[in-house]
Amino acid sequence: MNEFELIRRYFTQNSSNVVLGVGDDAAIVEPTPGNELLVSTDMLVEGRHFFADIDPVALGHKTLAVNLSDMAAMGAKPRWAFLSLALPKVDERWLTGFTYGFFELAKRYEVSLAGGDTTSGPLTLCVTILGESPLGSSLRRQGAQPGDDIWVSGVIGMAALAVRQQRNNTMAVPAEVLAVCKAKLDFPEPRIELGIALRRVASAVVDVSDGLVADLGHILDCSRVAAVIDVNAIPTHDWLATQRYQCLDTLVAGGDDYELCFTAPKQYREDIATLSRQLTCQLTHIGCIEEGLGLRLKGEGDEEIPIRRAGFDHFSH
Ligand code: ADP
Ligand code: MG
Repeated sequence: MNEFELIRRYFTQNSSNVVLGVGDDAAIVEPTPGNELLVSTDMLVEGRHFFADIDPVALGHKTLAVNLSDMAAMGAKPRWAFLSLALPKVDERWLTGFTYGFFELAKRYEVSLAGGDTTSGPLTLCVTILGESPLGSSLRRQGAQPGDDIWVSGVIGMAALAVRQQRNNTMAVPAEVLAVCKAKLDFPEPRIELGIALRRVASAVVDVSDGLVADLGHILDCSRVAAVIDVNAIPTHDWLATQRYQCLDTLVAGGDDYELCFTAPKQYREDIATLSRQLTCQLTHIGCIEEGLGLRLKGEGDEEIPIRRAGFDHFSH
């Protein structure tokens, strides 16, 4: 199979969302009048972002999901994706699985694959995503104010626990716990509806990809504020909750959660509780924004816990 057959067979879909899709020198898309366009790109490299033995369906899902998560963090509705990939060889079984995972998720959020690039090389996947939101309504990392509450969606630390066990199997994690953690690692669910709903209430938002401490840190840096979070309030799997002090790094600095961390004025507590019920998405109040700089973790009896790791950084570890 040559490159063009491969593109036609695996990456070309009929789509009503594009004026011109895969097959020309460029795609043509028609932005919704009165909206701003948001653009983001994310790359996944074998050995860095996923293990070589990952299920291709999971990889297809995750490749798109991590990009959709960036749109969620901006309060945007994702619309068009571009997929650039380097493949070591043409493996039809792998391609079938990968595109299944990718397009199942794309369909659910009405995202069209509008183009991309295909080359041979070490397995690398790069998605560029375009999204929209009404002019001026997008959310940023900047905007948190002293006195705001800090919230997080879903549960944190489970994906990191799965990675940790896969790297060095040092803890006696029950098999059923590991299975749910692995599912969270392989099939992250981007919080698109939540991001859109947060336009009304959030002062700042970030998605948790590099660990809660590191990503909340971005909100603090961009907003020039400080924060305190309650370690006991951080929502996680029941089993990990019993180990939260022994596994603090996994919980707050592990990453791969793809949940949203956001700040909102106290006056919105009721609205956020309602939102949580409407979206059937757990939303947990974990701390608050203060004046100053830096992030403090508080444990039992207000004791302060030193933070050891600042999340995942590709160039410093
Ligand atoms: P060009 O040589 O003009 O850059 P390509 O041969 O790279 O064009 O791509 C041909 C068409 O296929 C383009 O519309 C491009 O966007 C699309 N395409 C290539 N690879 C992919 C892919 N992996 N997924 C989706 N579309 C792709
Ligand atoms: Mg090209």
